[in-house]
Formats: sequence, C-alpha cells, structure tokens
Amino acid sequence: MGYVDEVLASVIEKNPSQPEFHQAVKEVLESLRPVIDANEEAYRKDALLERLVEPDRQFMFRVPWVDDKGQVQVNRGFRVQFNNSIGPYKGGLRLHPSVNLGIIKFLGFEQIFKNSLTGLPIGGGKGGSDFDPKGKSDREVMAFCQSFMTELCKYIGADTDVPAGDIGTGAREIGYMFGQYKKIRGLYEGVLTGKGLSYGGSLARTEATGYGLLYLTAEMLKCNGSDIAGKTVCVSGAGNVAIYAIQKAQQLGAKVVTCSDSTGWVYDPDGIDVAALQEIKEVKRARLTEYKNYRPNAEYHEGRGVWSVKCDVALPCATQNELTLDDAKTLVANGVTAVAEGANMPTTYEATQYLLENKVLFAPGKAANAGGVATSALEMSQNSERLSWTFEEVDSKLQGIMVNIFHNMDDAAKRYGFEGNYVVGANIAGFEKVANAMTAQGIC
Ligand code: NDP
Repeated sequence: MGYVDEVLASVIEKNPSQPEFHQAVKEVLESLRPVIDANEEAYRKDALLERLVEPDRQFMFRVPWVDDKGQVQVNRGFRVQFNNSIGPYKGGLRLHPSVNLGIIKFLGFEQIFKNSLTGLPIGGGKGGSDFDPKGKSDREVMAFCQSFMTELCKYIGADTDVPAGDIGTGAREIGYMFGQYKKIRGLYEGVLTGKGLSYGGSLARTEATGYGLLYLTAEMLKCNGSDIAGKTVCVSGAGNVAIYAIQKAQQLGAKVVTCSDSTGWVYDPDGIDVAALQEIKEVKRARLTEYKNYRPNAEYHEGRGVWSVKCDVALPCATQNELTLDDAKTLVANGVTAVAEGANMPTTYEATQYLLENKVLFAPGKAANAGGVATSALEMSQNSERLSWTFEEVDSKLQGIMVNIFHNMDDAAKRYGFEGNYVVGANIAGFEKVANAMTAQGIC
C-alpha cells in the first residue's frame, strides 16, 4: 500500500462517524499524490501526513443558556485548532444544528490549505456549535453567544487563534462574542474578525467572500479565453456569500438568475434583485417565499433545483455536498463552462470528477472562497496597526490576492503536469508552503 493509501485508511479507522472529514482528507491527499510520491521517503520518515491529518488540539464543551421562557438549554461547542505552522489559527464559527466534530474537522482541515493559498501568515482552525440562531430572539442569541465565549475565550487570542463568522454567525453574533471576550479577558484586541465597523471591523469584509469568488472566476475565465461579462450565472444560497457573489457578478456584467435557501429556490429570468434579497434575508431574516412579492415575474419552487436551470457559470454558495453527480450531469448537458465554489466543499467528490472529466473549468472552494479569510487577515493587520483602510484599498488588495491565488494554483497544476486541473493545483500550492514550514520547524 502506498503512503497516501495508508494514511487515508488510518484516518477512516481512527475517526469513525466523520464522513465529511474523510471526504475532505481523501480529496486533498488524492490530489497531492504527485508531490508526495516525489518526496515519499522524507515525508514518511517525518510522518508528515500523519501529523497533517491530526489536529494540534480539539476542544468540545458544554454551552448552557436560558431561553425566553426561563428554560435552560444546553448546546455543544467546538473549536478545532488544526495547524499553526504558518501563522495563528484562523477560521470561522459555524452555528447550525448539523454541526458535529466531523464537520468542524473537515472545515478546519480545508482551512489549512485555503489560508496558505492566500499568501498571508494564517494557520488553520474552525469551530462552532449545534445551536440554531433561526427563530431565536436577539436576547436568546446573546445568551448563547456569551455562554459560548465564556468557555472559548480560554483558548483564543489575537496572536494564537482568531475565529470569524460562517453559516449562522454574522455581525450580530460576532458583536456579542467580542463583548463577552473583552469583559472576561479585559483585553481590547483583534481576537475575532468580521467585527462591526465601529469597533475594529474592516470595510469590505462583509462583501469579501462573494466579491473574491467573482474576482477569481473572472480571472479563470479570462485566462481560458472567455469573459464573465454577458454570462448567465446560477447561484445557490441566499446568505452572506451568495448575496455578494450575485452583486459582484452583476457589476461585472453577468446575469444571475437563481438563488436558494434551505427550504426552496428562486428563478428570476430578469436577473436577481439584490436589494430585495438583502431586505428579505439581512433585514427581515425571512424566507425566500417573500421574493415574489418584490418580483412578480420570478418563480419560487419548494425544495432544491437551482442546478436544473441552464447557465454558463454555476456558483454553489450554500453548504457542503449540495451539488451532486446528477446535478453535475444536468449542468454539463445544459452547457455549463465553469463552476466555482463559494461554499466549502459544496460539490461531491463524484460530481467534481465528472465536471473535470467533461472539461468544465472548476475552481475549488479553498481557492475560490478564500477572499473572506484573506480580508479577515487584512482586518487583523489593521487592528495591529490600530488603523482603518478605505473600502477601495481593501477591495483592491482583495482583488490582487484572488488573482494571485488563481495563478498560484494554475502554475502548480502545470508544474506537475495537470494543466487546467485547479483542484490538484490548489491543493499542491497550499500544501507546499505548509509542508515546508512543518519540516523547518522540526517534529512538533
Ligand atoms: P449564511 O448562513 O449567511 O448563508 C448560508 C445560506 O445557505 C443560506 O441561504 C442558507 O439557507 C443556505 N443553507 C444552509 N444550509 C443549507 C442546507 N443544508 N441546505 C440548503 N441550503 C442551506 O452562510 P455564508 O453565506 O456565510 O456561508 C455559505 C458557505 O460559504 C458555507 O459553506 C461557508 O462555510 C462558506 N464560506 C463562508 C465564508 C464567509 O465569509 N461567510 C468564507 C468562506 C466560506 P437559510 O437562509 O434557509 O438558512
């Protein structure tokens, strides 16, 4: 058995009931085979892969809080500090009922390579809870966030581990968590990113993941002789990433005709109305059923179905494993030319292989959605300097970072004879820097 196969088998054996984590490790290690085969002896001797797939440490803790009826509720909190070879742990906090240790580990593992790809000094981590902010009052969300941070604050800090938002964790939740950290630790420091502008947040952080996704997609199309302008685009999701992806796609001259949430999806032949979407999702925190009240020509459908709509470019921006092999077949049959992942691992392994076999340009999430964490790192720099940069300054740095990420993964793919395979390219480019740092720092 080869080194990669041995490590994959041991990951499955040692981490039962964590299918998403197995999937993420498999996707990364399979595509690293050319690099690992070329350095097998040294990597084996140092157990480099065994060290890479085992988090530095993982915290699981009780989060008790009192609901509006006076009833005590108990959730489970997580923080996985995966790898800090190239900088402090950095990665979001997901609040969603589906959260468990395996999901947080898959996200933390992916984060190592994504953060490395940004070219910025940030390591990989992730956290969250099975708490569901949906349907909770502001007071209940605050009670949860304060209890969560009361425990989490023991393990994080501006130079050790800097969490951020993710599904279910937006500006409101970050605000409550920051307040509690400050109160308990007595420190005013950049311990979280995605903060409000009045207390250390960065301009353009809210837009960064969605905008970054489009900057990278536009560069990928340009370098393959095409142009985002004039393209028909399907987006899934209606949250932070989806909203700003739609907005930037429209600014770049594309027409976005779909979006979705966890109950249904919208087809708007005239192009999604971003202002209406923002009002429904960001202001009212309501369902997409309301979209038709703003746009009578649009269709609303229950369930999933975004990928059945004919498009040139598909941007999955909701959650993991939302684009399946059947969806990939429909997209290819409908003439899709590019898929770029706004969400983390939204495309199943089989769907990714099918898209690659059919010569669809495919930008994996660890590259395509890295704009969020890159701008979080820019927020950390501003906090350290105690300065704020303008929107234009941050946005232009973001654009440069995304263009660089595209060329780094493109170059890495070419260097190993996989031209045009950006999955291989992104994994290799992200891995090389981390592996070099781990080797230089000795066995630790
Ligand atoms: P939000 O919570 O703002 O939005 C998530 C969207 O996806 C919502 O529309 C939600 O629907 C929908 N959704 C969530 N779970 C499901 C599900 N199981 N089935 C169908 N739809 C679902 O999260 P973000 O936009 O921040 O994150 C989206 C993705 O992007 C995640 O994979 C996240 O990890 C990734 N990401 C986010 C970054 C960021 O900066 N925010 C950075 C990099 C990656 P509903 O409204 O009904 O809940």
